[in-house]
Formats: sequence, structure tokens, C-alpha cells
Amino acid sequence: MPRVTVASESLDLATGSQPGAVPRGTHRTNLGLMPDPGTEQDCLFCRIVSGEIPTSIVASNASAIAFHDIAPQAPLHVLVVPRRHAPDVAALAAEAPTVLADLVALAREVAETEADGQFRLIFNTGARSGQSVFHVHAHVLGNADLGWTPA
Ligand code: 5GP
Ligand code: ZN
Repeated sequence: MPRVTVASESLDLATGSQPGAVPRGTHRTNLGLMPDPGTEQDCLFCRIVSGEIPTSIVASNASAIAFHDIAPQAPLHVLVVPRRHAPDVAALAAEAPTVLADLVALAREVAETEADGQFRLIFNTGARSGQSVFHVHAHVLGNADLGWTPA
């Protein structure tokens, strides 16, 4: 398997691993696809993105990963999470709008492969809206006739 050199770092393309120890809290799975804008050491979704916490990945692209919510609220309930850390969707839109576009594209892909293509996309933003994990994520809900009773 060939090796690539990114800046001063050498990456093994088979494992994404770098020679020597990788400090906890750095991106270990982005394979140099994008600059690392910073990972929050104790952020649950950063730890899932890095592979530190194992999760069954439904789909992924260069910017985001999708996996099933641990407590589904609909027959299809998938979380789409950007690889880079941002606290909420407004911050991500301001910092990296193309990543947000990639995230929405992945949500559509999930809805097309796991449901009939129709879906509700929810970004809880702030604790009062129900946000409990402060790494932006989209809830993709589908495979149901959804009601409208948010409050
Ligand atoms: P929020 O409340 O921030 O909008 O959404 C966070 C979501 O993450 C919740 O729906 C919750 O069930 C889900 N969640 C929390 N911890 C985990 C976990 O460890 N694994 C997975 N797959 N989902 C989680
Ligand atoms: Zn994070």
C-alpha cells in the first residue's frame, strides 16, 4: 500500500495511521482530506468521527458521516455529522458552508437508500430547542407519516 506525504506528515493509506503516537483529540480518520479545523477532546461526536467510539456507519462522504441514532424517534432516524467540529448549524454555515452542503447531500443520500427519498431534516440549535450534543448534527427522519407537534 503506498504512502502519501501531507505537509510533514506521512499517512498509511491502508489504515490512515501516522507513524508514532497520535495525540488524543486529533482527527485520525480524515486521511488528510481536509485541514483539521480542530477537534474537541471530550466531544462525543468528535470521538465517533475519529473512530475512538465504534459506530455502524450508514453512509459517508468527504465531509460527513451518517449513523443510526441510539434512541430512534422514527422508523428511520439517522444522524448526519460533519467530520469537523462546530457547535451548531449556524456556526457551521458561517465557518464552512460547503461542509454544510455536503452534509445535506449525505442526508438526501441516506433518505434515498434507507427510505423513499422523503425526509425531515432537523438541526436542534441551543438547549431550549432540544440540543444535547454540541457538535452540529442533522436528524434525518423518515419511513413514516410524520406529525407536527414540536412543542
Ligand atoms: P440533540 O438532542 O443534540 O439534537 O441530538 C442528539 C442525539 O444523539 C439524540 O437523538 C441522542 O439519542 C443521540 N445520541 C446520544 N448519544 C449517542 C451515542 O452514543 N450514539 C448514537 N448513535 N446516538 C447518540
Ligand atoms: Zn465535536
